[in-house]
Amino acid sequence: MMINQTKTTVIFACPQCNLAHEVTQTHSHTKKAGGFDCAECGAAVHFWYGCFVYSDWRAMTVLPLLQRPNIANDTQDQQYDGDPFPARRA
Ligand SMILES: [Zn+2]
Repeated sequence: MMINQTKTTVIFACPQCNLAHEVTQTHSHTKKAGGFDCAECGAAVHFWYGCFVYSDWRAMTVLPLLQRPNIANDTQDQQYDGDPFPARRA
């Protein structure tokens, strides 16, 4: 079985609001440049230049590891108040 193209799903979190984004990483034979902004606050989340390119960029509404119990008011309006991991307090 020959596989020319490797596809990997990676996750980037916004440096500003910590919203997680899921993206498909593929390998390219030529160097390419690109970038993605946060779907929530518009901050630059990731930029690249090289043989790895990213596509199918989408925000994740549910955090993969830390599932918040009180997610009710997050669905309507995007009200991230800078504390995306409230369950983390000691
Ligand atoms: Zn953001």
